[in-house]
Amino acid sequence: MARSFFQVGACPRCGASRHGERWLCARCQEELSPRCTAPHALAESEISVVYSPYRYRDELGELLREAKRARCFPPLKTMRALVGHYAESTLGDLSVDDVVPIPPRWRSVRERGFHIPLLFARTIAEAALRRRLSRSELGLLRWRSLRAARVQKFLSAEERAENMHGCFTSPHRALSGRAVLLVDDVVSSGATLRAAAKSLAERSPARIEAFALFHGSSSVGEKNQ
Ligand SMILES: [Zn+2]
Repeated sequence: MARSFFQVGACPRCGASRHGERWLCARCQEELSPRCTAPHALAESEISVVYSPYRYRDELGELLREAKRARCFPPLKTMRALVGHYAESTLGDLSVDDVVPIPPRWRSVRERGFHIPLLFARTIAEAALRRRLSRSELGLLRWRSLRAARVQKFLSAEERAENMHGCFTSPHRALSGRAVLLVDDVVSSGATLRAAAKSLAERSPARIEAFALFHGSSSVGEKNQ
């Protein structure tokens, strides 16, 4: 069943036939292989490990900017392929129960027609856990306040933390004994993931980890290398 999620076809990055590979062709995968895969901790948070394989710069950062700016699908497919390959090769052994995307700011979804953390979360569930994302996982985290709809890009780390404080709520289910993987596209100051984890922590999960495809230059990942 899991096989059917991914059609083997042309490499989304270069267009070459993939010869049976599910994500990128071998050459593209090699060219885009992460240089810094070591998972790291996120200081002052409930998150024990952050998996963030790529730096948000050069061609890879451009993929994300292009996908957002132009509602562009080829960069989305390439990013999904990177997430899928990483999830299969690195996150496959994780014992994660719930995969939880950072929820969308609805205005940006209306504008773009997609929500990147949701696409990544789906890909991780399919590639690492061999199942679809469930409805309950999608309901685990909500925006409580739209203050955080402010664009974070221009704020300092302290301002971001302040901006995100109390912005999420985690309704419904108890998470006791469960391991949760939070999913975002970029971790920069970590303010979004921290706020989300704080809200989930009220449900007493056994463990909270996080995945973000990219880390910014100011992020925890750089400091810990
Ligand atoms: Zn290729």
